[in-house]
Amino acid sequence: MRVLVTGGAGFIGSHLCERLVEDGCDVVCLDNLSTGRELNIVGLYGNPRFDLVVGDVRKIDGTGFEWIFNLASPASPVAYQRDPIGTLKTNVVGMGNVLQLARKVGARVVQASTSEVYGDPLEHPQREGYWGNVNCYGPRACYDEGKRAAETLCHDYRNLHGVDVRVVRIFNTYGPRMQADDGRVVSNFIVQAMGNEPITIYGDGTQTRSFCYVSDMVDGLVRAMSVSDLVGPTNLGNPEELQIGYLADLILEKVDTRSQVIYEPLPEDDPVRRRPDITKAKEQLNFMPVVGIDEGIEATIDYFKGVRNER
Ligand code: NAD
Ligand code: UDP
Repeated sequence: MRVLVTGGAGFIGSHLCERLVEDGCDVVCLDNLSTGRELNIVGLYGNPRFDLVVGDVRKIDGTGFEWIFNLASPASPVAYQRDPIGTLKTNVVGMGNVLQLARKVGARVVQASTSEVYGDPLEHPQREGYWGNVNCYGPRACYDEGKRAAETLCHDYRNLHGVDVRVVRIFNTYGPRMQADDGRVVSNFIVQAMGNEPITIYGDGTQTRSFCYVSDMVDGLVRAMSVSDLVGPTNLGNPEELQIGYLADLILEKVDTRSQVIYEPLPEDDPVRRRPDITKAKEQLNFMPVVGIDEGIEATIDYFKGVRNER
C-alpha cells in the first residue's frame, strides 16, 4: 500500500506515519514544516518505507497513491490565527488538490476534519447530524469555516466524481510531540507546571473538553481508512468530558511544582462544552479509545520531561 500523509510531520501526522510504516505501508509525508517539525519524524529517517517531501498541500500533485490522509493544517488556535488567510486556503485549496489527486489516481481519502465544525455547540453531546453554531466573522472562523468548506468539497467530490472520501471529525487530541508553545491547554499546563510558572486558566475553568490520547486517535484514523466504506462525517474522540479546571488540578497533582492557578479572560468564541457522541464510530469502525486521562497525561508529562532534559 502506498500512502500519502499530508501534514505528516505534525503532532498527529508523525504518529500516523509511524503506525503506517509499522503496518507495512510505503509512506510519503508531505509537509511544509510550518507547525510540524523534522524532529517528529526523525525516527523514520533511513527507513526505506518512508519519504519526507517538503512541500505545500496548496500546490501538490503526485501519482501512485492508494490512500491519502489529509492532515495538513495548523490546528491550535494560536497557530491557525497567526495566518488566517493561509489557514483558510490550506483547508480549502489543499482539500481541493487532494480530492483532484485522489480522483486522478483512484485513491481513497481520509480527511481530518474537526469538532470545530460544531462551533460553540448548542447541542450536547455533539452528534454528526448537528449542523453547528459557528461565527463566520470570529477569530476561529478561518479554521472552522475552512474545515466546513473542506467537508463540503468531500461531499461533492463523492457525489459528483465518485471519490472514496471519508471525513472524520477529530476532537481534542493530546500526547507526545504536541508543541510546547502552540497554546493548547494540555501542553500549556504541563509546560507551565514544569517551569513553576502560573497555570493560566481562561475563564473560570468550567468550560469542558473531551481529550483523546494520540494513539487512540491514530487507531481511529486507520480504521476509518480501512473499512470498506464510510459515508458522511464520523466523530473520533474520547467521550470522557472534563472541565478545564479539573485538568489543571490533575496536572498540578502529577507534576512536582510550585505553580498556582491564575485566571485570564476566556478568548472570544471559546466553546463552552464539547463532547463527541461516538456511537457511529463504535458501530461502523469498532472504534473505542482505551487510554484514560491519567495514563495519557502521565505519558505526555514524561515526553515533556524528556524534551527538557535534551536541552
Ligand atoms: P500540527 O500542526 O501538529 O500538524 C499539522 C501539520 O500540517 C504540520 O506538520 C504542518 O507543518 C502541516 N501543514 C500546515 N499547513 C500546511 C500546508 N499548507 N501544506 C503542507 N503541510 C502543512 O497539528 P495536529 O494537531 O497534528 O493536527 C493534524 C490535523 O488534525 C489537522 O488537520 C487538524 O486540523 C486536525 N485536528 C487536530 C486536532 C487536535 O486536537 N490535535 C483536533 C481536530 C482536528
Ligand atoms: N485554555 C486554558 N488555558 C490555556 C490554554 C487553553 O484555559 O493556557 C482553555 C481554552 O480557553 C479552551 C480549552 O482550554 O477552553 C481548550 O483549549 P485548546 O486551545 O487546547 O483547544 P480548543 O479550544 O481548540 O478546543
